[in-house]
Amino acid sequence: MTYVICEPCISVKDTACVDVCPVDCIHQSDDKSSTQLYIDPDVCIDCGACVPACPVEAIFPVEEVPDKWKQFTAVNAQYFKK
Ligand code: SF4
Repeated sequence: MTYVICEPCISVKDTACVDVCPVDCIHQSDDKSSTQLYIDPDVCIDCGACVPACPVEAIFPVEEVPDKWKQFTAVNAQYFKK
């Protein structure tokens, strides 16, 4: 399983989640055109620590991602396939 960063992160990119993640699996692109932060699904240990840290409630367990943001599961995973 993994956690997924969804639409509310876009243009916010607060990094509080990065600070609390125990396995450093939340990444930010150096590319300024990148709009959000991403969680590496292969490294995430499903601890949930990032959820309350996010000021815009952008992070969900993969099975609880709202239907309107389902595409963000692939968006996060795809970032790490580059
Ligand atoms: Fe990191 Fe835990 Fe959030 Fe996964 S659930 S991204 S391991 S803080």
